[in-house]
Amino acid sequence: MAQLVVLAGPTAVGKGTLLKALLDKHPEIWVSVSATTRPARPGEQDGEDYHFVTHEQFDALVAEDGLLEWAVVHGSNRYGTPRQPVLDALAAGRPAVLEIDLDGVRQVRRTMPEALFVFVAPPSWEELVRRLEGRGTENEAERERRLETARQEMAAAEEFDEVVVNDDLDTALGELEDIVLQAR
Ligand code: 5GP
Repeated sequence: MAQLVVLAGPTAVGKGTLLKALLDKHPEIWVSVSATTRPARPGEQDGEDYHFVTHEQFDALVAEDGLLEWAVVHGSNRYGTPRQPVLDALAAGRPAVLEIDLDGVRQVRRTMPEALFVFVAPPSWEELVRRLEGRGTENEAERERRLETARQEMAAAEEFDEVVVNDDLDTALGELEDIVLQAR
């Protein structure tokens, strides 16, 4: 069975950019597409960035036990990992990566303790705030909510097997590459 890698880290730390770069280099890696009740941002594609679902559809996924884990993130919307695609990727021998929040990480740790848990950290708290503001995709109230979640996530870094500091993208990518591919 291939390795499951679970990636987490605070908002705006660059997990998405890192994962995209990892996939470009290693198309054999499979990355889970989560279901979410959050509305799509401009440019996001349904089925690619997320499966954008209604609250009723999300309820149905939970009811049929179709999610490996799920959580309310940033105090508002629900996000979850469809279970079967993860099992299929692992059965096909592909390294599989989930990018989920801390609540989800703790659920996966209980159900799939053999997974490898990786925390992506910013070089500093100030840099994280700067990146979130620079992204400009959230209003101030939403940014505050995300920073509150980020504070809690930063405090949990020691629960993870590995920490990758995303200062220089290429360096962080190299570290993540080693972790994901060595884990096979
Ligand atoms: P965003 O709304 O910025 O796309 O995502 C917010 C956060 O939701 C991400 O940083 C990620 O940690 C979390 N997230 C995305 N998909 C899932 C999922 O399937 N499960 C859980 N537990 N969290 C998720």
